[in-house]
Amino acid sequence: MRRGAWTAALLFALPTGLAPAHQTPPGAWGVAVLETGTSADAHQEQLAVRDCLELVGIPFIVTQSVVQAVRRPLVILSGGLTNRGFTPAERELLYRYVERGGVLFATEVQGNVWFPLFGITGATPSRARFRVHFTALTDPALRYVNRLEERTVSLGDPALYTETIWSTEYAVAPGAQVLAEYEHGAAALTVNPYGRGLAYALGLGFKETSLVPQLAHGFEAARRWINWFEPSGDVFRLLLRALYEANVHPFLLVHTVPSGEQTGLCLSHDVDARESFQNSLTFARMEATLGVRSTFFITTKYFTDSTDIGYYTPERVGWIRQVRALGGEIGSHSVSHSEDFESFPMGAPEVGLRDYDTRHPTVFGEVRVSKELLDRDLGGRTEGFRSGYLLYPTDLLGVLERAGYLFDSSVSAQWVLTNFPFFGFRRRALGSAHSTVVEVPVALDDSRGELETRNFLTAETADEALRTWLDVIHANAENGAISCLLIHPTDTTYKLATERRLLETVRGKDTWIGTVGALARFWRGRARLHPELARQADGRLVIVLRTGAAAAETGEPVPAQALVVEARPGVGAPAVVTPTGTVLKVRSRAVGDRVFLLLP
Ligand SMILES: [Zn+2]
Repeated sequence: MRRGAWTAALLFALPTGLAPAHQTPPGAWGVAVLETGTSADAHQEQLAVRDCLELVGIPFIVTQSVVQAVRRPLVILSGGLTNRGFTPAERELLYRYVERGGVLFATEVQGNVWFPLFGITGATPSRARFRVHFTALTDPALRYVNRLEERTVSLGDPALYTETIWSTEYAVAPGAQVLAEYEHGAAALTVNPYGRGLAYALGLGFKETSLVPQLAHGFEAARRWINWFEPSGDVFRLLLRALYEANVHPFLLVHTVPSGEQTGLCLSHDVDARESFQNSLTFARMEATLGVRSTFFITTKYFTDSTDIGYYTPERVGWIRQVRALGGEIGSHSVSHSEDFESFPMGAPEVGLRDYDTRHPTVFGEVRVSKELLDRDLGGRTEGFRSGYLLYPTDLLGVLERAGYLFDSSVSAQWVLTNFPFFGFRRRALGSAHSTVVEVPVALDDSRGELETRNFLTAETADEALRTWLDVIHANAENGAISCLLIHPTDTTYKLATERRLLETVRGKDTWIGTVGALARFWRGRARLHPELARQADGRLVIVLRTGAAAAETGEPVPAQALVVEARPGVGAPAVVTPTGTVLKVRSRAVGDRVFLLLP
């Protein structure tokens, strides 16, 4: 969709009184997440739901109080729904809420006292379902399900596993509608009109579809390893966004792309071969002439072993210094670029260049010593890491965090089942604490094709590779997601030409283009924005923007943040104000049913 130019926002307020949101009951604005259950499983599901809402930018309140939850037009039940989770009085309140026009969304409805509300007659859990097919594409909840890859998504690879994530199938009563089914035809997602409201039941928890894959334990659900659009995790997050946009008016979102653009393209290069150091300068020059910057992940291999010489030499560092002078961002691509990185012990946290024994390599050693060298030789602060071969040791993010890194890009988007950046976990294990490290998944890679490692981008396949990459970028644009491209600068003919053609095609077309670090800094800043819609004393609606304390950042620029608010015919977007009432000077741009507000 084409957009008009940014203009200074007209600070009209909406007319007094929230326009009646079709049948929703009167009360507070926004989404309530009603958390239930105290088991480890329930806590993981609750965490996963909060993470998904934050990832797609939906403001929400969390409560254990049914009374508080049912004041909002959309309630997301989080933690599993059994017969024991609520008292009979609370259950009655939830039934009344839907009957009077509320919209209730629950996952894993197991307790039969809830069946009449959801229009189901049975619920059967299993770990033997591997596909979900969305069928009722006109339901507002499925607004973002349009591509073939989204209409059928994968829960795991049945060729490799006999059991995958948990799922529940529902037996459906007359009157309820099936929105999605598993491969054998049983219902995976249902909606039941109950009174004037709607009750949605999804047979998959967000722990299963989102949290487990983000720990890179996703049962190889991706249908291809790289260089294709894999929405099998994102469709469930986008289901929440679609439900929100359909039921909360006016909807308000924290945008997912820097500078208020429709999509983003992250540029990165892995410098892990002798010739790549000098070649990097050619790439950096080309990118500078097009006005864009990229991230160069440098292997600091300073010793010779059976795989290669110590190619991290002063001469080669000189090329990288010039890359940096042209605006290139420098990250670490480890010390030894070892195929065994995932089996390295964590090692001593205080290891440094002077005492690192490269014959007994460690995760800390690879992360800290490469940073020490790059910080020393390039005079900056190295904030980003990408492992060789996208290997992902269990403790990688915890180690990176302790070593002072801000972002990592050691996973493929297909592997973690998301095309959005996210805050990873210190350990790849359920129950791990969140990391402050932002994970930026790689979607597009010149060096890998399907299944076996082979060169995807060659002189002969350049046109086909370009078409594939553009297709993935367009698919992500439809979802407000981001594509991260990896090109190894081992060649300055067809590789350089293909990147240039890609940039010339997407440049200026509602696409933010930048470094992995800029995207990560944007994502960290975004997490501190807590907007909500409020009514002032004079009746006008305003967006109150609360901004949490800034984390310690370097002086690198952070791309602008944007909010998205539902467009309403005849009235301008609400003003954006600070909690003390100061009106912020935002620029606005209308696109279809929404207005983008670019924050100063
Ligand atoms: Zn590499």
